Amino acid sequence: MHESVMQRMWESAHLSGGNASYVEELYELYLHDPNAVPEEWRSYFQKLPADGNFSPDVSHSAIRDHFVLLAKNQRRAQPVSAGTVSSEHEKKQVEVLRLIQAYRMRGHQAASLDPLGLWQRQAPADLSLNHYGLTEADLDTTFRTGELYLGKEEATLREIRDALQETYCRTVGAEFMHIVDSEERRWFLQRLESVRGSPQYSTEAKTHLLERLTAAEGLEKYLGTKYPGTKRFGLEGGESLIPLIDEIIQRSGSYGAQEIVIGMAHRGRLNVLVNTLGKNPRDLFDEFEGKKIVELGSGDVKYHQGFSSNVMTEGGEVHLALAFNPSHLEIVSPVVEGSVRARQDRRSDKSGDKVVPISIHGDAAFAGQGVVMETLQMSQTRAYKTGGTLHIIINNQVGFTTNRQEDARSTEYATDVAKMVQAPIFHVNGDDPEAVLFVTQLAVDYRMHFKRDVVIDLVCYRRRGHNEADEPSGTQPLMYQQIAKQRTTRDLYADSLVQAGVMSAEQVQAQFENYRSALDEGRHVVESLVKEPNKGLFVDWRPYLGHAWTARHDTRFDLKTLQELSNKLLQLPEGLVVQRQVGKILEDRQKMSAGGLPINWGYAETMAYATLLHEGHPVRITGQDVGRGTFSHRHAVLHNQKDGVPYVPLQHLSEEQPSFEIYDSLLSEEAVLAFEYGYATTTPNALVIWEAQFGDFANGAQVVVDQFITSGEIKWGRLCGLTMLLPHGYEGQGPEHSSARLERYLQLCAEQNIQVCVPTTPAQIYHLLRRQVIRPLRKPLVVLTPKSLLRHKLAISTLEDLAEGSFQTVIPEIDAIDPQKVTRLVMCSGKVYYDLLDKRRTEGREDTAIVRIEQLYPFPEDDLTDVMSAYSNLTDIVWCQEEPMNQGAWYCSQHHMRRVISALKPEIGLKYAGRDASAAPAVGYASMHAEQQEKLLNDAFNG
Ligand code: AMP
Repeated sequence: MHESVMQRMWESAHLSGGNASYVEELYELYLHDPNAVPEEWRSYFQKLPADGNFSPDVSHSAIRDHFVLLAKNQRRAQPVSAGTVSSEHEKKQVEVLRLIQAYRMRGHQAASLDPLGLWQRQAPADLSLNHYGLTEADLDTTFRTGELYLGKEEATLREIRDALQETYCRTVGAEFMHIVDSEERRWFLQRLESVRGSPQYSTEAKTHLLERLTAAEGLEKYLGTKYPGTKRFGLEGGESLIPLIDEIIQRSGSYGAQEIVIGMAHRGRLNVLVNTLGKNPRDLFDEFEGKKIVELGSGDVKYHQGFSSNVMTEGGEVHLALAFNPSHLEIVSPVVEGSVRARQDRRSDKSGDKVVPISIHGDAAFAGQGVVMETLQMSQTRAYKTGGTLHIIINNQVGFTTNRQEDARSTEYATDVAKMVQAPIFHVNGDDPEAVLFVTQLAVDYRMHFKRDVVIDLVCYRRRGHNEADEPSGTQPLMYQQIAKQRTTRDLYADSLVQAGVMSAEQVQAQFENYRSALDEGRHVVESLVKEPNKGLFVDWRPYLGHAWTARHDTRFDLKTLQELSNKLLQLPEGLVVQRQVGKILEDRQKMSAGGLPINWGYAETMAYATLLHEGHPVRITGQDVGRGTFSHRHAVLHNQKDGVPYVPLQHLSEEQPSFEIYDSLLSEEAVLAFEYGYATTTPNALVIWEAQFGDFANGAQVVVDQFITSGEIKWGRLCGLTMLLPHGYEGQGPEHSSARLERYLQLCAEQNIQVCVPTTPAQIYHLLRRQVIRPLRKPLVVLTPKSLLRHKLAISTLEDLAEGSFQTVIPEIDAIDPQKVTRLVMCSGKVYYDLLDKRRTEGREDTAIVRIEQLYPFPEDDLTDVMSAYSNLTDIVWCQEEPMNQGAWYCSQHHMRRVISALKPEIGLKYAGRDASAAPAVGYASMHAEQQEKLLNDAFNG
């Protein structure tokens, strides 16, 4: 046995002393036949980490045997030409090895996966003997087994074929031969073939399986009787999900996992809430009766609710969190990943051992929704990996009313998209609970060993319609004729246990009645639920609750320390050669730090991060090209010109500093923004930023904005301090990259749900970013960031502006204009301010004051009132914007401005200066753009 494994075993308390040789014998036995050792030992051996090329670890003799075999195989693997094949038997031997390989690759196509028996699949030709020139007459001939894990080197063809048939063509369809890594493939071969795809389970395990199925079925029956016709998106037909999740939790716990985050859609959610997370059934009944159970907010339907609890496992207490979920399918998956990554970062769990994501999908949604692909694509990237996700498909073979194969997809399985990341996929017949248990164990072990995604395709059915008020036989007549005849999974399994003498009929009945009376009494039905949960397992959000957006805060920062931090950022390690333009930017920053140059945007933003880190707040920034910044202003990641090695100065401020993470994202918006939402809703202490390459790209993530960012707090009471940076500005670059679609965000503003800001100076972005973390309020922040202002000669600040001051929601007129002379007030946001300023200065006008509204929501009515009241001789008040009239802030914000005006100057109306309403955000021709811009500026002063 490998020394490392032995050592680990001896180190376990229960394996010490004189047991050693007994354990070694057991292990030898296990390696030859996993079913020959008791289940606890099998489970223990299976979980031993993979060492070297052998997984699981193998005995000395097995290693020796393995090499002998390998040598033989290598000899055999030489190209077979007529001349080298000495005999008919040798030719057949080669064909037998090909047959073995075919079963491994395509056995799943002949497996019995559909509990309804409706799948019409042609058995693959290459699983038949005659495909290889073999016949029934060869069945009793002995052949070498190659690397088939059969426990012997030679076997008859009959034995070989039966073993393959049992392993690959029963109720588990295993797809793993597409995995490129041969160690992983071998791991699966060993695990599947050594038990012929079906291990023996103890009476205790079987009884527990039935208990979980009884719970799953019992709850739905109970709800169905008590609240007939009420929507609950029942799990009937897919009850095996409950033992499946139970096993994931217990087994992950025994590996040392401390938190598990689950994402799922509506189907089966109530069942998971009560039977897995231990939600009190009485609370659920209250929800069925329409009672309001959340104090704050407008709430959500019961099958979208999240939940948190702690359960006990063999490895200790595990915190479970079921994410809140909107009805937009699959979008919760990246949210869960973000939440998991945040928890892993909090625990410094780089490998993902301590926090595990479970993502539960529907078959139609997994095949149909693009965000699935995006989320899979994230799974091994630096920014987004979480050590592998356990995906479960509740495959009820129908999408609402859409048929499985003809309409719902073009692929053989709903799971085929997962192959893009080489995830192993296990299709399993949901009516075989032991097979479900087996693939679950395999999936958890794989995830824990290899830290990659794995998929369980739980092939089941949907006993009722899409919901309980829906009649399915109109659209799926044949399927529902079959379902009407189908006995439940629990019934079938209970019968098989009674027949096998594992349980008596009375015991089965007692299980059923126990569960029912627990529900009647409104008792918790999860035995492992921890009544006094260890709160140390999750974050305390109390400091962030109950603050108004006007909460006091102080974003000033000591000037000397600021300069020290700045100088530290500019001290580069020996040998780091930066690119020429980057060098110039750093040189300028040096001057800015010394007070020799006014401060620009890039400097101020960098110092916001540096000062927050200094004050103990972690910072995480992701998005397309964030390391450099789309417009080359940030350069937070320096690339050594000699060897390409990146250096991130903000990670080297001090030994004790919190983490500064910055990653260029994959070219996704939807999954990436959802991920960062999940991250931010789990990490209140950090500044979490997503930046769009161009502001309009956030369009691709609109569902995240609508269903999570702007409404998550009011629906679910989940706070979120996520910051979105959206480059915006009309610079004549055409329809797509001018506008970040400000109107979208403003239209969603209500109940002080988010903050929408348009800062126009470096000091403003600095204080805004600092305010976002220093103020205990946690609200999403949408920032329209500039493009040309990054280098505009007037968009500058001083070191003192950073050290003192705060974010100004309204910036009053900055020129020394006598308020008494002012008859016109122009209000605006963003870059157009500098165009207005330039025009006024050029024309030398003193009758017009220009006021910047830097926070459009929550609208700063009081601050605007203060600014406006300085002008007593106003005759015109204008809102000026670059966006067309149907876009920008005009429609969504004018009522706020009018309210301020009507209180101060009821006789004055509000005028509009901006582009005419337009279907596209901007024109494509530079000359048209310039004409429009000139007109809107003129209107602002004269219209
Ligand atoms: P979780 O770790 O997600 O299960 O959260 C544990 C507990 O922390 C929850 O039950 C909530 O009380 C609280 N909590 C978690 N996330 C948030 C959030 N984003 N806003 C407010 N409270 C939260």
